[in-house]
Amino acid sequence: MLNFFDLANSGLPYPITKDTLVLYKQVSKQYLDRYLLESIRMLVPIKIKNKFEGAVGGKLDLKIPMALLLYWFKHDFMKWMDKSPVCPSCNISLSLRYVKGNSWIVRSVEYYDCPQCSFTLAFPRYGEIENIAFNRIGRCSEWSFLFGAILSSLSIQSRIVHDFLDHCWNEALIEEKWIHVDSTLEYPISVNNPHYYEQNWNKKYQYVLAFSGTEIEDVTKNYSVNWETILQQRKKRKNSDMSRIIDYYEKI
Ligand SMILES: [Zn+2]
Repeated sequence: MLNFFDLANSGLPYPITKDTLVLYKQVSKQYLDRYLLESIRMLVPIKIKNKFEGAVGGKLDLKIPMALLLYWFKHDFMKWMDKSPVCPSCNISLSLRYVKGNSWIVRSVEYYDCPQCSFTLAFPRYGEIENIAFNRIGRCSEWSFLFGAILSSLSIQSRIVHDFLDHCWNEALIEEKWIHVDSTLEYPISVNNPHYYEQNWNKKYQYVLAFSGTEIEDVTKNYSVNWETILQQRKKRKNSDMSRIIDYYEKI
């Protein structure tokens, strides 16, 4: 068994932390819970479910069901939690009080208070899929945690990808290949556009990792056209070896 103290101090390449690994493991383990998936599946409109059943059975292409699911999720089901919300009465910016949670179950709570009136807004950052599905609001982490569970509930194996900068999304296993799927983007940009962030958001990756309930995979190469440069930068730094992270992830 690896020593937490040892890992935190010398084993993990910045910015990968023990807490992040625990979070992604615990979230993606829920994709293997068939009772949870059954309840998540009930959220999906029946027309979309039927289209998926046909496609997964091999009779139809997955493109149309995926496009419908992404549209429904982004435009009908989920809401985006603004990073700088405004008071609905006073129309001025709310001030943030950040309270750190004590486990992956509630990672933190963001309280937004109006400096002029008594308006206050609480935004709990949940790791439990059921709570995210109940709240129907979040940022890319909540969206990707829940969307991955929805795909899993429709018999599409999925995992969560985090870039260790400021974004996360999903991958879906389609015809034995892991395909990029980002429920926060508009279709068709949202499917199979792995270089989108580097080309449009000017991302400078160090690590892009994919998490499932059983394993972790370094997928940086798939998301960058500058893989050789990233490799060179990694070699200059200490602790750039992924093998300890992979071992640790399997044990937690
Ligand atoms: Zn106000």
